[in-house]
Amino acid sequence: MTDTTPALPGWRHVYSGKVRDLYEPDATAAGAALRERHGDVVLVVATDRVSAYDHVLSPGIPGKGVVLTQLSLWWFAQLADLVPNHVVSTDVPEAVAGRAMVCRRLEMYPVECVVRGYLTGSGLVEYRASGQVTGIPLPAGLEDGSRLPEPVFTPATKAVVGEHDENVPFAVVVEQLGEDAATTLRDLTLAVYARAEAVARGRGVILADTKLEFGVDPTTGAVTLGDEVLTPDSSRFWPADAWQPGRAQPSFDKQFVRDWLTSSASGWDRASDTPPPPLPADVVERTRARYLEAYERLTGDALTV
Ligand code: ATP
Ligand code: MG
Repeated sequence: MTDTTPALPGWRHVYSGKVRDLYEPDATAAGAALRERHGDVVLVVATDRVSAYDHVLSPGIPGKGVVLTQLSLWWFAQLADLVPNHVVSTDVPEAVAGRAMVCRRLEMYPVECVVRGYLTGSGLVEYRASGQVTGIPLPAGLEDGSRLPEPVFTPATKAVVGEHDENVPFAVVVEQLGEDAATTLRDLTLAVYARAEAVARGRGVILADTKLEFGVDPTTGAVTLGDEVLTPDSSRFWPADAWQPGRAQPSFDKQFVRDWLTSSASGWDRASDTPPPPLPADVVERTRARYLEAYERLTGDALTV
């Protein structure tokens, strides 16, 4: 990405995705001390960048990176008895305080582990065309926002930067990773969803769907939960008391940004090659409020950012 990344003592910038910047310990004495203390780690920094329809938008959403990191840390703790996670420490440089975590470096699986308890988004598009989602047949008569008879694992292949992720049948994941790894990813993903869905429901929030990323921890060989988890970027959260299938649901996530972009108000044609227009100040502010509300509703705590 073109954004300049902050210089962090002891850390060297190695990669930027759409939202996160990754660093590794550098060749200085400070970097050596980090390796000595933590082993083979990366610093995962969540920026305030916001992406939709595979475009990084401008401006960013102030405080968003802090919300993503703090909510991920909270969920990792909720899930710790179910699945190991990559977090090593939250002792990070001042310049990225609150928005960064020191994480075990994983060999990431090139699969987006998507689970859906409700039908919307790309799942709904597929269902309307074929009655299935990633090859899983669903009952007739489902609408936008319908609850599925049971949660389904609907994986997607991870695209290189700038390309779209593609929903694929489970059999493709088996071909790619082998039966054992594919089954482990599916079972862990469904287990995480079941736990998280129940936690969110207790807070009056529907977890409609979410995307997880796993990797192998080379030091233990364990399949480990990486990246961010159960944030408004990776998940659809709906207020339970307003749920009404047959229309788009109000949400605590970036569905709001997506809806603005595809509305006539933005003047943007998603099918064109042109970059999306800048987000107006009120869209930025309302998106920020939704991210904060997601954190507060789910954790029961306020967040100052
Ligand atoms: P892309 O992976 O195509 O860049 P993205 O735009 O979603 O997709 P970000 O989420 O912004 O990328 O960046 C995070 C990157 O860091 C992802 O590629 C993710 O797979 C990777 N990652 C997350 N946790 C770890 C980890 N513990 N070890 C190594 N890589 C990780
Ligand atoms: Mg990502």
